[in-house]
Amino acid sequence: MTDTKSHQLFLRAQKSIPGGVNSPVRAFRSVGREPLFITRGEGAYIWDADGNSYIDYVGSWGPHIIGHSHPMVVEAIKKQASLGTSFGAPTELEIELAELVRELVPSIELVRMVSSGTEATISAIRLARGFTGRDKVIKFEGCYHGHGDSFLIKAGSGALTLGAPSSPGVTPGTAKDTLNAQYNDLPSVEALVGSNRGQIAAIIVEPVAGNMGVVPPQPGFLQGLREICDREGIVLIFDEVMTGFRVGLHCAQGLYGIKPDLTTLGKIIGGGLPVGAFGGRRDIMEMLSPLGPVYQAGTLSGNPLAMVAGLTTLKILRDENPYPALEKKSSLLAQHIGEAVLSAGIKATQTRVGSMLCLFFTDKEVTDYESAVTADTNVYGKFFRGMLEIGVYLAPSQFEAMFVSTMHTDEDLERTVAAARKAFE
Ligand SMILES: *Cc1c(COP(=O)(O)O)cnc(C)c1O
Repeated sequence: MTDTKSHQLFLRAQKSIPGGVNSPVRAFRSVGREPLFITRGEGAYIWDADGNSYIDYVGSWGPHIIGHSHPMVVEAIKKQASLGTSFGAPTELEIELAELVRELVPSIELVRMVSSGTEATISAIRLARGFTGRDKVIKFEGCYHGHGDSFLIKAGSGALTLGAPSSPGVTPGTAKDTLNAQYNDLPSVEALVGSNRGQIAAIIVEPVAGNMGVVPPQPGFLQGLREICDREGIVLIFDEVMTGFRVGLHCAQGLYGIKPDLTTLGKIIGGGLPVGAFGGRRDIMEMLSPLGPVYQAGTLSGNPLAMVAGLTTLKILRDENPYPALEKKSSLLAQHIGEAVLSAGIKATQTRVGSMLCLFFTDKEVTDYESAVTADTNVYGKFFRGMLEIGVYLAPSQFEAMFVSTMHTDEDLERTVAAARKAFE
């Protein structure tokens, strides 16, 4: 491994970039090896600096639902690049993407573009606070909403105590306004609402949790959140940065039939370029500057290259409706990988919603953070390294999803299952 180009690049990267990476999970630390440096992606495949190819189930952490370098997306970006890459002035492309988002996500009456999922969630929280005049926010343990200060908070020692910063640099003042409930546990939400009546601005939730592995919402959970928010005047925010246009054309809210007040988007909406968005009820969104007093802005927001990449991707999804085929492929893949791992004598629990899959190395049912972390990360590391060796690139962490794209062929899936049979040898 020490004579590879990836290894040389990793050594070089660490001299200029903290840990050699621009986002920590890329460093592969939790799977016990060094990262690969990638030079190229096409369809369901990526190539590393040493020329090895891999069937890719990371898909840039979700955006590449139609595969890497889709010819139509590449063409649209090239065409726009020749016209100009940024103007800091309105373009028709922004209207087109906003109109398409409204068409596909009916709860969104007005939408604003930003440049990342993190930007979308911090803006949505500020807006919810401005709208309600309240300070506190409820989130769920194990849900990830980007790296905004308000989200880097873990539960205190008792379920009803105040939150504590989970990262140095987040102030206790910020921490006291974020309360942690348990996923799929409405009584834990009721308890927080009851002890902070009239002070909760927003409940933010991943409608399918995808950042503690994949944890689907149990029947009634999202509906229960909707009812609590209606009763208490709380803004319900669905963080669909991962699930948006992934679990269905109308996002998780379409799949489960629940209308949030605000929605945050990212990943797929940018088609592989940096885009985030937040939108929702008109009366809330009208609080935003320049219409209202809640400030939010961005030099590169609505960037034309990013807009065409997202627009082209969403149009392909709308026109081709690949979701039934993705469901079928993903369900077969999950079933066969499950059987392969079981036949190696390894205990595992599977979760899946559409083309978001997860294999937890635990025999417990996974419904929340506490049960997710019963998974054996050493076994995952072994699985990950075994798969990589055979040419299958999975997320370098137990607590991430595996994403299937429209470009994964039956043959790719068969090769993946064959690899899973061998991964533990
Ligand atoms: C990825 C993700 C984010 C953060 O998006 P970035 O573009 O990485 O800032 C926020 N929420 C969820 C649910 C995500 O999956």
